[in-house]
Amino acid sequence: MSIKELKILAIDDNQDNLTTLRAVIADAIPGTKVITALDGNTGIILALSENPDVILLDIVMPVLDGLSVCRLLKQDTRISQIPVIMLTALKTDRATRIKALEAGAEAFLAKPLDEVELIAQVKTMAKIKESADLQRMEKAELASLASERTLEIEKELKERRKAEEELQEANQKLRQTQVATLELLEELRKEISAREKTEADLIIAKNKAEESDRLKSAFLANMSHEIRTPMNGIIGFSELLKEPDLSLEERDRYIVVINDNCQQLLHIISDIIDISKIEAGQVETIPVDFRLNTLMETLDENYSQKAAAKSLKFILRKGLGNEECNIHADQSKLRQVLENLLTNALKFTHAGGIDFGYNLKDTRLEFYVKDTGIGISDEHRQAIFDRFWQVESGLARQYGGTGLGLSISNAFVKNMGGEITFESVPGSGSRFSFSLPFSRSVSGIAPKPAMKKETISFKGKTILIVEDEPDNFDLLNIILRRHSLQILHAWDGNEALQIFSEHEEIDLVLLDFKLPDIPGQEIAGKMLKIRPYLPVIATTAYAMSGDREKALQAGCISYLSKPIHSEDLLSDLKKYLN
Ligand code: ADP
Repeated sequence: MSIKELKILAIDDNQDNLTTLRAVIADAIPGTKVITALDGNTGIILALSENPDVILLDIVMPVLDGLSVCRLLKQDTRISQIPVIMLTALKTDRATRIKALEAGAEAFLAKPLDEVELIAQVKTMAKIKESADLQRMEKAELASLASERTLEIEKELKERRKAEEELQEANQKLRQTQVATLELLEELRKEISAREKTEADLIIAKNKAEESDRLKSAFLANMSHEIRTPMNGIIGFSELLKEPDLSLEERDRYIVVINDNCQQLLHIISDIIDISKIEAGQVETIPVDFRLNTLMETLDENYSQKAAAKSLKFILRKGLGNEECNIHADQSKLRQVLENLLTNALKFTHAGGIDFGYNLKDTRLEFYVKDTGIGISDEHRQAIFDRFWQVESGLARQYGGTGLGLSISNAFVKNMGGEITFESVPGSGSRFSFSLPFSRSVSGIAPKPAMKKETISFKGKTILIVEDEPDNFDLLNIILRRHSLQILHAWDGNEALQIFSEHEEIDLVLLDFKLPDIPGQEIAGKMLKIRPYLPVIATTAYAMSGDREKALQAGCISYLSKPIHSEDLLSDLKKYLN
């Protein structure tokens, strides 16, 4: 800024003074604009509107003196920075000068004014103002810059915060997505493993079904062979029996062969019935009191002969003395299991021998059958208990059998509270064993009286036989006639009831439960209603589970399954007729 462009405000109540000032300044600093005011208030208004570079202010003025004007100027921040030079005529008044400075004036000039000093002061003050303005401007610029920057920073911060929030939100979403993805993966994994399991199960089921199908076909083929073989024996030797010039020994030998073959057939049939019962879940344990050693000795007797025929040693070991071997268990199932194991041992052993027996171990009886036979390889370990399964298959079979024995035995042992296990070395032999809970019999057991061979006579007794099969009736008739019985025969239920009502002398009824017209149960019921103490013995060829119970429920005194053994029949008649 050049001095020429200065703007000076002069405030003085004396117009002459103002004129002088204007002239002096215009002369000393050409181009300077001098604004004037004749009183303080006008001066303040002009200061505000014109923003002069310097204010020359007379102290002594009416209404508002210079000191008051100066104070007002310095109080207003819009104009407080304009340098004020106080003018006074009281040159020597020191106190006034001090007051002027206290009121905020920057300089002081005494009247009459020294022009040089005035101009110098004016210039100095103008410079001060200029630099003050500059400073203020810089400050203002800085402040605006700072506030601009602050705003920018705030904006940036805001944006950054927003960005952070967005990032956090995105992170959160990402995490949620990750969790959802993991859950999805887990579900997928589960689904895949479930599907794999189902597939594996299906493959197992398919293999089982195929294996079962294969086994059934093999079984049917075997069965045909297993049935035809004894049938062949029975038919062939029965034909031979017709020969007129047979010796007594020959006849007895043929009868033994026929009987053996019949037993074999019967065995197959009862195996089939047993396996059906097992599959239908109808196996029930019927425990009775019996002497274990008697059972073991009977088996020993039966099998030692067969072993001797193959030149095999046969040893029985009993784990309890005769006085302590009375037990409570399912005798017929235990016998069947041991017979199956012994039959296999005999069948698969060609040299050496068989050792069987039992031991008492804590609270269980452990049974075993050990042989020195062909043994079983590890690959067949599981399969041998499967129904119909045999190591041998196809036409080249040398051992025979139906593949049912172990499966039945295993089910029976499980039913009695045990499990069959075995150890085997191929080529050296096998040891099958199982244990059952040892339960002593509560009642004493009288040894079974041996059937005397002498002829039992039922002279004077009358028996009604209800039987629709002519052969079956013939057999019963022949057996019983020998024992001097009076025999009445009915072919069906109605005839039976008719005869029964006409013959009060009937002492016992032998009643076939399967008749063409009326069920055996009903007939028994009707007869017993009339004669409650009449002994009725039920007979049936079905040997299915429940028949025995049905007969006993109907009030029958006993039950005989066909084929009826004459010994069992006579024993019952002896019991109930006398
Ligand atoms: P089966 O004897 O009528 O064939 P099983 O169910 O009793 O039926 O036996 C199944 C198969 O287990 C037999 O065919 C045989 O291959 C094998 N097996 C059973 N017992 C023995 C044994 N003591 N020694 C060798 N193999 C045996």
